[in-house]
Amino acid sequence: MPGPYDPQNVFARILRGEIPNKTVAETAHTLVFHDIRPHAPQHVLAIPKGAYVDLADFAANASAEEIVDFHRTVAQVIADLGLSGPEGYRAITNAGLHGMQEVPHYHLHILGGRVLGRLVDPA
Ligand code: AMP
Repeated sequence: MPGPYDPQNVFARILRGEIPNKTVAETAHTLVFHDIRPHAPQHVLAIPKGAYVDLADFAANASAEEIVDFHRTVAQVIADLGLSGPEGYRAITNAGLHGMQEVPHYHLHILGGRVLGRLVDPA
């Protein structure tokens, strides 16, 4: 189990408008914005507006409406960024210590625009 949700995390502060962001898409339940340190020509982060720590928390506890809204928005952004063709993209999420999650608010990284290499470094 992750720890309790920390309302001072940087994405909570973005959602409250305390920190600026470069918004790509926004709906009632979802925000998508550019990663501040992009790892690829295209690198955006999709977050639910609700207070969820990681994927498992979101999947277990969000409403069906939030879950559908999140994924439909992700699909729209993938199309809008020109990533839905054969070159494709990568969508990844980190959780906890082994996942090396930095920001404890669930986020999906969407990366594209170059060959992205292997999923993880060999151990
Ligand atoms: P993770 O390691 O999966 O928790 O990734 C956190 C991501 O958030 C990193 O790729 C950071 O570059 C990104 N990030 C941190 N602060 C901001 C911010 N203020 N605006 C946009 N992206 C950020």
